Amino acid sequence: MIDLYTLDKPALETLLAVWDEPRFRADQLWNWLYDRRVASFAEMTNLPIRLRQRLEAETQLGSLVLEDEQSSHDGTVKRLYSLHDGQFIEAVLMEYDDDRRTACISTQAGCAMGCVFCATGQMGFARNLTADEIFEQAMLYARDLAARGDRLSNVVLMGMGEPFHNYDNAIHAVRRLMSDLELGARHITVSTVGLVPMIRRFADEGLQVKLAISLHAATDEERGALLPVNRKYPLRELISACRYYTDKSGRRISFEWTLIQGENDTPEQAEKLGQLLRGLNCHVNVIPLNPTTGYGGHPSAQGRIQQFINILGEHGIPATVRIRRGIDIDAGCGQLKSKVLKRRAAHAASLEDTLPE
Ligand code: SAH
Ligand code: SF4
Repeated sequence: MIDLYTLDKPALETLLAVWDEPRFRADQLWNWLYDRRVASFAEMTNLPIRLRQRLEAETQLGSLVLEDEQSSHDGTVKRLYSLHDGQFIEAVLMEYDDDRRTACISTQAGCAMGCVFCATGQMGFARNLTADEIFEQAMLYARDLAARGDRLSNVVLMGMGEPFHNYDNAIHAVRRLMSDLELGARHITVSTVGLVPMIRRFADEGLQVKLAISLHAATDEERGALLPVNRKYPLRELISACRYYTDKSGRRISFEWTLIQGENDTPEQAEKLGQLLRGLNCHVNVIPLNPTTGYGGHPSAQGRIQQFINILGEHGIPATVRIRRGIDIDAGCGQLKSKVLKRRAAHAASLEDTLPE
């Protein structure tokens, strides 16, 4: 089977040429796939029935298999997909009142970076996703939204995995989001744990895509304890790469700060962060910790969060609290996979119990 979602326009043209179809059929098919975003060949009504039948028989739309889906009362929809080799990945769609429809997508099955509070980090690394597997997660949400007259507006590479540990595929997927799904670069965000050489490479790429850095601590000692990668790329090198990015791109950089009670939410940490980021064109997103089974920390209390933000404000650094979306559906990436696998293991165990010896 040929997966049509993996073909670029010239490849689609070649396929239809080989099938002896007139040239304009490729334009029509492309239009159904990426402009109209239909989910079946039956809907492609201006294609002759014999062509639709051939497409049905010899091609497919995507390769991800939906294994589980959970919807939150706040409108967040989280999905677990299996890949052709049995790996699992997660993707989330967040719908906001201001019409933003944001897909959060994965770049790897698992992650090698081992951040202690992250459910994906806790499960270890399985493999890189292909550019097509990354792109398809956004494509499938775009398709569902189109079916109800809505439109995917933003994509964040903040699901499972470290995008800059799978740099080429992640960037290729980002380019397809821009060309095939016509998302503006400013509506796409790549988040990295801080792989310094890749931040510089990304700056040189010249894309207008937004960059977010997962910071979480303002001293090497504390950051190294939460994010092992800090031992390889300490803060001095990281901030220098961030400055390179803001200078080169002329764009503001975002920092992610997961607030953990008693760990990194103290006034001292806020002061140190204020000093660390002085003079940098940046914004800090503060996110209360989403508790995971493999880490004992707790989210910070409301008062602490506000105090943290106020101190940053005194240093002239804009900071906002990101609302935790889908908290009732394990929307922190990696959490749904853990839960479904546990449920399946329990199911398998109970089946075994009922089998005769
Ligand atoms: N690997 C990339 C992108 C995926 S993680 C990165 O680390 O930036 C996306 C964001 O979620 C990161 O800022 C990460 O630190 C944060 N995160 C991971 N686990 C979390 C948790 N349990 N609670 C809150 N934020 C978490
Ligand atoms: Fe990987 Fe990001 Fe999780 Fe760290 S926070 S383990 S880099 S996915």
